[in-house]
Amino acid sequence: MTITVGFVKETKDGESRVALVPETAEKILGLGWQILFEPDAGEQAGFPNEAYSEMCQMAKKRSDVLNAADVLVGVDALSNEDIKELKNDAVVIGMVSPYQEQDRFSQAAEKGITVFSMELIPRTTRAQAMDVLSSQASVAGYKAVLLAASEAPRFFPMLTTAAGTIRPASVLVIGAGVAGLQAMATARRLGANVTGYDVRPETVEQVKSLGAKFLDLGVEAVGEGGYARALTDEEKLTQQQNLAKHLTSVDVLITTAAVPGRPAPRIITADMVNDMKAGSVIVDLGAEGGGNCEPTEAGQTKVVNNVKVIGPKNLSATVPLHASEMYSRNVWNLLSLMNNEGEFALNWEDDILAGCAVTRDGKVVHPAAKPQQDGEKS
Ligand code: NAD
Repeated sequence: MTITVGFVKETKDGESRVALVPETAEKILGLGWQILFEPDAGEQAGFPNEAYSEMCQMAKKRSDVLNAADVLVGVDALSNEDIKELKNDAVVIGMVSPYQEQDRFSQAAEKGITVFSMELIPRTTRAQAMDVLSSQASVAGYKAVLLAASEAPRFFPMLTTAAGTIRPASVLVIGAGVAGLQAMATARRLGANVTGYDVRPETVEQVKSLGAKFLDLGVEAVGEGGYARALTDEEKLTQQQNLAKHLTSVDVLITTAAVPGRPAPRIITADMVNDMKAGSVIVDLGAEGGGNCEPTEAGQTKVVNNVKVIGPKNLSATVPLHASEMYSRNVWNLLSLMNNEGEFALNWEDDILAGCAVTRDGKVVHPAAKPQQDGEKS
């Protein structure tokens, strides 16, 4: 049987990425599989219909794709409406937000739909090429700096001009994960004086290798699997007291701190923001998870005592062409695990496939996608 891989136009507000770019679509066709897509699916990402190979079929409308796809790939995938239209034994691959609206997963399971969550791909070395959290965080880290640079009332680089010398901006990046390191690298490229901070000691060398200084606040918090753990109240206080002193000399603050499965750690209090220099800019990448800074509001820009506090949502969608290319390559690498010499096959012995499956054999199988029982930790 020839497999049909479908993709549709994203419907979430502000979502301009597309799950399959022309380069990936070609690779899928190369397996002997078919591609069916909704008209204008890639338009907003910079890939008009004609950018796709003539071998890709353009459907008349969205429901035609959903009705026919054996495999549906999406960015923000699996809405209630789409589940109704999908074939009974379809496979869905996308960022399905496993912690949200979990009734979708039982609905999908009831229809025999197998759902793979790109967010739940194990963060192992073998799975790195499929890691959308990394690829999209990297886009967000880059764009956070551009946003800060365009909102700041100052230059980032040092400038020597006939009108005198301008000092470089002082940028502090909190959280040296994928987004934070990309933010540091981008701010360095723009010529700023960059300092990085994280609670994981292995980040000291990573920060320094980018030409940034490391800020030592005397708090280390290594958790499981190479991630940070949440800080104790005492550690939080030490961190805040030491950070407060440094913040008064910062022009731009970019916060990217996160602890898996928890709300964004609250690191910057309203008082600390009040004490920052007038004209400073904060970009809080933790905004959607509740914010690393107390005054942050997701999707808003606020001015607090002359400090601009920006809480962007879905920043990677604002660089849609490259964000889609990277996402699409991640999807292709996952799809490749489902290809057995041209035949579509799900090998449940594979730890990556088993690890990111949310529904399978008519059941919701991933603990992340099951409603939390009272008393269970999220
Ligand atoms: P993340 O988005 O979960 O967190 C961002 C950063 O915030 C982390 O560096 C974390 O240490 C830091 N942080 C958390 N609480 C903090 C606090 N209170 N104060 C300051 N900083 C705080 O992390 P991420 O970017 O997704 O990944 C983190 C690390 O995971 C990577 O640097 C890497 O070592 C590892 N990783 C491995 C793979 C892989 O092997 N496939 C892929 C991606 C990441």
